[in-house]
Amino acid sequence: MKVCVSVAEKDVRSAVDACISAKERGADLIEVRFDHMDQVPMSLLGFGSVGVPMIATLRSVAEGGRYSGSDDGKVRFLAEAVKEGFSYVDVELGFASMADLSKAVGDGKMIVSYHDFERTPKTSDMVHLLVSCSAKGSLAKVAFQINRPKDVLALVEASRAYAETGNDFVAIGMGERGAVTRVLFERFGASFTYASMGAGKEVSPGQIDIGSMRRLKGDIIVTGVTGQSLSHSLSAWMHNAAYADEGMPGMYLKFQAEKDDLPDLLDMITELEIRGTNVTIPHKQSIVPLLDELDPEAERIGAVNTVKNEDGVMKGFNTDVHGVRMTFEKAGFDPRGKDVLVMGAGGAARAVSSYLSASKANTYMANRTPDKAKALADSFDGIEVIDLNDVAKRRYDAIVNCTPLGMKGYPDELSVPADVIGPGQFIMDTIYNPPKTRLVLEGEARGANAVSGKDMLIFQAMRAFEIWTGTLPKYEVMKAGFEEGMAR
Ligand code: NAP
Repeated sequence: MKVCVSVAEKDVRSAVDACISAKERGADLIEVRFDHMDQVPMSLLGFGSVGVPMIATLRSVAEGGRYSGSDDGKVRFLAEAVKEGFSYVDVELGFASMADLSKAVGDGKMIVSYHDFERTPKTSDMVHLLVSCSAKGSLAKVAFQINRPKDVLALVEASRAYAETGNDFVAIGMGERGAVTRVLFERFGASFTYASMGAGKEVSPGQIDIGSMRRLKGDIIVTGVTGQSLSHSLSAWMHNAAYADEGMPGMYLKFQAEKDDLPDLLDMITELEIRGTNVTIPHKQSIVPLLDELDPEAERIGAVNTVKNEDGVMKGFNTDVHGVRMTFEKAGFDPRGKDVLVMGAGGAARAVSSYLSASKANTYMANRTPDKAKALADSFDGIEVIDLNDVAKRRYDAIVNCTPLGMKGYPDELSVPADVIGPGQFIMDTIYNPPKTRLVLEGEARGANAVSGKDMLIFQAMRAFEIWTGTLPKYEVMKAGFEEGMAR
């Protein structure tokens, strides 16, 4: 995999140091963004010692860069860069003095680029842009903002069509939703990709750091999570920690998608041979009819949190149930024949109910909207729906909170009357942020064995990782990833 590292420093001295550091981190090519310097340098002394092919870029403000000087000045500077040993210059397709530049540096030294920081055009327009760029230089480079999975599909289609010409090219999907194109560029025929020096050093939205890219050797495994709001998701922290620990060439990304995007997302997974995706709120049920197969657990609960791509066949799993099972087992509480109160009747309650029903517990379920609890209880044996006002009338061996009450950003309240919490009980809050909810604190104070949703999250992630890779990652590694993510 060929990776070009973008270096954006404020002066030549720091840029040379950064180039040497990029070389040490495994850069095959280095792009120096001279437009990010405090001023266009008079001398390029020092770059000769770098020892990796370099690209000089002086992108103007109108082109999304920071250079505000004249076109003549730009031509003079880039010609000087080539004289000083830079292998290429990168110039925008619309650059008015293209002919002068070409004369000054020679066609073979020119990467001709096109960027759209707002959208991805249709496939035929992208092919046209690639052809136009390559007509003016030795390498065409296009970069488009990815807003939806269908943009990735269009970029892949255009790239594969253009790759038929046999010409080298670079095609990049910008933004977090385009990150997959930076990792799997070889699967659509692009010659290389761009990476940053490290977190916070990105010069283009969605750039991945060189360290993470260099771990990707051989048959790259990409997995991820889809949902509507993924900014706080901890899954990438857990899965990427596991890939690093196992020495696997894997990367876990975020595939943000609306409900209408799900068919395109599944096509994207097929086209780019992505191993699979986790599925979170609000798609766990709406993705079910789009899948080819369901494993028995997912079938039973009618919700999928893990999709595996088996050679283009999309198979749905539900590892949340596994997460619940493992949490109970780790806590040493066997619910068989025990009275368990479940608060809530949404997705988490479905996973908990499936486990409790299979374990032959006597489950009592209360929910703000009783009809939803009734509908859920109809799908499983052994669940009795009770009125919220009757919750305090019974005693329970275990209580599981499946509402967001107590979660960061929600009212810091108990979902149950405090009186039902007592010594010897097992209490599970499915919430993991904050690490100790009011329910967990109250349980501890009253002598119960109280745990948060952290283990459920970690164990569901471990099982998903195993489904995709065949390797069960270490609990401690995923826990460390979870904690690192929580601390950010
Ligand atoms: P969901 O499908 O939206 O269901 C939410 C449930 O909570 C519904 O029964 C809802 O009642 C009830 N609810 C919502 N707001 C409430 C309020 N203000 N007062 C009382 N009840 C309220 O959500 P979910 O996916 O089940 O998630 C629920 C919780 O589980 C979240 O805190 C989430 O973080 C956690 N969770 C944890 C994991 C894990 O791995 N640890 C996995 C999944 C979920 P109505 O039916 O009346 O709307």
